[in-house]
Amino acid sequence: MTSKDYMQREDQYGAHNYHPLPVVLEKGEGIFVWDVEGNKYFDFLSAYSAVNQGHCNPKIVNAMIDQAKKLTLTSRAFYNDVLGEFEEYITKFFGYDKVLPMNTGAEADETAIKLCRKWAYTKKGIAENQAKIIVCEDNFHGRTTTIISFSTDPVAKNDFGPFTPGFVTIPYNDLDALEKALEDPNVAGFLVEPIQGEAGVYVPQEGYLKKASEMCKAKNVLFIADEVQTGIARTGKMLACDHENVHPDILILGKAISGGVMPVSAVLANDDIMLCIKPGEHGSTFGGNPVAAKVAIAALEVVKEENLEENAERLGKIFRDEIKKIDSERIELVRGKGLLNAVIIKPKEGKTAWDVCLSLRDNGLLAKPTHDHIIRFAPPLVITESEIMEAVEIIKKTILDLDA
Ligand SMILES: *Cc1c(COP(=O)(O)O)cnc(C)c1O
Repeated sequence: MTSKDYMQREDQYGAHNYHPLPVVLEKGEGIFVWDVEGNKYFDFLSAYSAVNQGHCNPKIVNAMIDQAKKLTLTSRAFYNDVLGEFEEYITKFFGYDKVLPMNTGAEADETAIKLCRKWAYTKKGIAENQAKIIVCEDNFHGRTTTIISFSTDPVAKNDFGPFTPGFVTIPYNDLDALEKALEDPNVAGFLVEPIQGEAGVYVPQEGYLKKASEMCKAKNVLFIADEVQTGIARTGKMLACDHENVHPDILILGKAISGGVMPVSAVLANDDIMLCIKPGEHGSTFGGNPVAAKVAIAALEVVKEENLEENAERLGKIFRDEIKKIDSERIELVRGKGLLNAVIIKPKEGKTAWDVCLSLRDNGLLAKPTHDHIIRFAPPLVITESEIMEAVEIIKKTILDLDA
């Protein structure tokens, strides 16, 4: 079978809820992936930052295999001998009393929303069904019905109503708007991405997170950070909130917490919040399963052992500096933090970011546009300086060839 055959089969039997770049991958190792014809590519998407530790990281894969041979799932109806190990490890790792394990990022966001509401009624004393959570324009927190209820992207939202009430939308990176919204005594939480990833890697002004978290504290409102994409060293620190020494009341993790080998997500909070949820009130059959527990420990160990925070910080600077040197009108702007970066592409002669990504693919580098004019560049954090320079050469050549 050729790439074309594989794509046709997916097109025929799979729902059309994605529009993939035309390339069919069969193998991954570190920062590279290979297609079914044997062509090798730099992976500059990293499965939306799930594969920070590199494809098929041996330590994580081995942890998975060893546990899978012993015990895969008990459900939470019974205890098992590895969940506690994971819970102790991750809570100490991030400095919280408790963790609630789930599977996908969206589920973790849903968990945070439910936890915040429970806290609002049982601790803060908000009247029944009156709790509100402040969210930001252009947010991305996943695809469930409640989460899309407060999306501002018509593509994510249109014709999926009716929607879940209880959310107040303010502009991102706007402390005045936050201050106004916080005046409402029924506000229980502020849910925010430290950097808006899906929206196109919007980095807020320095001090935004710090100030926002202080404003929330002053109003007894929970500061809830969705670090599903920005967490686990992606932006040059373990958490993007660490850049401003902010310790969220509720921390949401997913994606790279498993190094991309299986869906693992987690919500962290201290006892005064987390213990608001009582037995039977929330859960998931697969949440906290033994394989996930072992995989997540290994994935976090890899981040420490391989100094991925430092690597992301250092190589991210080099990447942005080098992209800025490319002399082309097509590149409007490069922005980001650590190895979460975006390049804004000015459409020229009818060629959009999508066309640039097709040419990048032909030259051996995979990236995906977000919206019409933005390309996100987010390689696995195990990339080296010489590999970054090689990738920059590919991007430069691609852009200059399109200009020629
Ligand atoms: C990807 C993402 C999610 C959703 O995660 P899924 O595992 O796809 O459900 C939530 N929040 C942010 C910030 C994300 O980037």
